[in-house]
Amino acid sequence: MQETHEFHNSTHNHARCVNSAIQAATMLCEQQGLRFTPIRKRVLQLVWASHAPMAAYDLLKALRKEKGNAEAPTIYRALDFLLQHGMVHKIESMNAFVGCDHPGNPHAGQFLICTECNQVLEQESNDLSQLISRHALSYNFTISSQTVEIMGICERCQA
Ligand SMILES: [Zn+2]
Ligand SMILES: [Zn+2]
Ligand SMILES: [Zn+2]
Repeated sequence: MQETHEFHNSTHNHARCVNSAIQAATMLCEQQGLRFTPIRKRVLQLVWASHAPMAAYDLLKALRKEKGNAEAPTIYRALDFLLQHGMVHKIESMNAFVGCDHPGNPHAGQFLICTECNQVLEQESNDLSQLISRHALSYNFTISSQTVEIMGICERCQA
């Protein structure tokens, strides 16, 4: 089965992406009794500034524009929380973070990363993650986390 998907295009309604991500995070916190403090929420919004991953340092710079006295540990603590609850994913190869629009269920993300525009698309293929798990198992390897980062050039940048 070959489906075609659209990579984020420049004209999509990004405010909708942000709103639904914040809503999903808010609901998750309510369900699980987590505290979605203003700073955690703000950092999540900053991560969602676009579909390009944000480094912790960039988040700190953005936050300092609003709160001049923001300190790095504040960002790291908020990111820890967001990571722990699946609201953001870390793109290891870029040492940066992207928002997840379906937090809560632990999932193995596969990320298509455009090396031209830096946008990242999260896709989820259970087939692929099961295949990886089976391979690992055949080496008696126990997986603790599974992230696939696929570098390339998106449709828009190819044009
Ligand atoms: Zn968007
Ligand atoms: Zn995700
Ligand atoms: Zn691109």
